Amino acid sequence: MILAPPDAFGLVSEAEGKKEFFGLLGPRKQRNGDRKMAYKIIASQCTVCGACEFECPNAAIKMKGDMYIIDAKKCTECEGAFDKPQCAEVCPVPKTCVPA
Ligand code: SF4
Ligand code: SF4
Repeated sequence: MILAPPDAFGLVSEAEGKKEFFGLLGPRKQRNGDRKMAYKIIASQCTVCGACEFECPNAAIKMKGDMYIIDAKKCTECEGAFDKPQCAEVCPVPKTCVPA
């Protein structure tokens, strides 16, 4: 009798692929594994004072329309530049610059 190897029909690879796929989408991976960490501005609390804009070491904060937004692709949570996220440090409104 000829025994087929475990992956003869691609079933093992498919299962592994799904595991990886769902792992990538998991919140832990997003925040810790793949450098997708970023801060965001809670628009309903932001007074548009502008204090955060020039403190960002990555120029990730800019005006869009009449609101400030953080470009998640540029935000590094200030890692390597400051001990704490500078937007959150200078923002006069508590809990307005928060982890995305
Ligand atoms: S956390 Fe740091 S890098 Fe990210 S937007 Fe705020 S100031 Fe910029
Ligand atoms: S410092 Fe805070 S209140 Fe001022 S623009 Fe930035 S997020 Fe808005």
